[in-house]
Amino acid sequence: MLIYIAGSGAMGCRFGKQLHEAGNDVILLDKWEDHIQAIRENGLKVSGDEEKVVNIPIMRPEEAKEQADLVILFTKAMQLPDMLEAIQDVIGPDTQVLCLLNGLGHQEVISKYVPEKNIIMGVTVWTAQLQGPGHVYLASTGSINIQSLNPDGQDKGKEIADVLSKANLNAIYDEDVIPSIWRKACVNGTMNSNCALLDCKIGELFASEDGLTIVHEIIHEFVVVGQAEGVALNEEEITDYVMQTSKSAAHHYPSMHQDLVQNNRYTEIDFINGAVSRLGRNHDIATPYCDLITQLIHAKEDVLIGK
Ligand code: NAD
Repeated sequence: MLIYIAGSGAMGCRFGKQLHEAGNDVILLDKWEDHIQAIRENGLKVSGDEEKVVNIPIMRPEEAKEQADLVILFTKAMQLPDMLEAIQDVIGPDTQVLCLLNGLGHQEVISKYVPEKNIIMGVTVWTAQLQGPGHVYLASTGSINIQSLNPDGQDKGKEIADVLSKANLNAIYDEDVIPSIWRKACVNGTMNSNCALLDCKIGELFASEDGLTIVHEIIHEFVVVGQAEGVALNEEEITDYVMQTSKSAAHHYPSMHQDLVQNNRYTEIDFINGAVSRLGRNHDIATPYCDLITQLIHAKEDVLIGK
């Protein structure tokens, strides 16, 4: 199977490596010159659970010409339209396009470039970190839930789940994946944005009484807006999930902290708390916590990165 990884940063390298090792024809796509050069010259260096070098092809999106069986999207959320624009040549009438980005609303963006029957949405708890150009750190295990956006795509979606699982990525075909996507977005919307704003670890946020109040208010906004969107969300269940996740990740800085505070990079806030604000407005639902948090993150981006 010919698979392009559209965005081969941390997660793209994990998925690309595992699918390549499972015998698929994998081509990494990226625009980061130092990363491309490093992988071309020295292979992809992997450390963490295993130390190795994997020889895997990488190119710029505009160099990819062959129509793919599968494209896995792994840019950051705000980079998705540019990537989809750049890979039009490889998306044929039967190319399956899988989105595992964090956040909400990506299906509307992808639908502008890909027929709905070929779009597969999903959510993953795999993780990965880039250590530098051409070097990815992979530790621990994970899983993936995916579902074709349109019932006509279901058989293909199940085939793709099988391809991912044969690469030890533990994928299941989920008959109702959208609530899981919202649940993960809610984890990100409570932990990532607040820890980036407060410059703290997840455990420190949850140990603060006021921090915890903010977390509960954000969960409530996600649930009410999600329900208005027709997504079956249960506030108690999501609260349990967020609390559970906060315990297992207590000693970590979430990825938005790493992006914004540690590396001064723009964040995916508009697709997390910002998406809930936007959707809330469509339904006349007030979302004061998500509104303020989105503005504060943008203000912090202005302060740390500049306009
Ligand atoms: P990343 O920044 O490491 O990788 C994104 C890559 O896409 C970069 O290498 C960038 O150069 C490339 N890119 C962006 N726009 C491009 C374009 N137009 N053309 C070519 N290349 C382009 O990000 P990541 O950590 O791998 O995260 C990807 C997505 O997965 C995000 O939505 C993130 O929230 C989600 N996610 C990440 C993790 C994690 O542990 N890193 C876990 C779960 C989900």
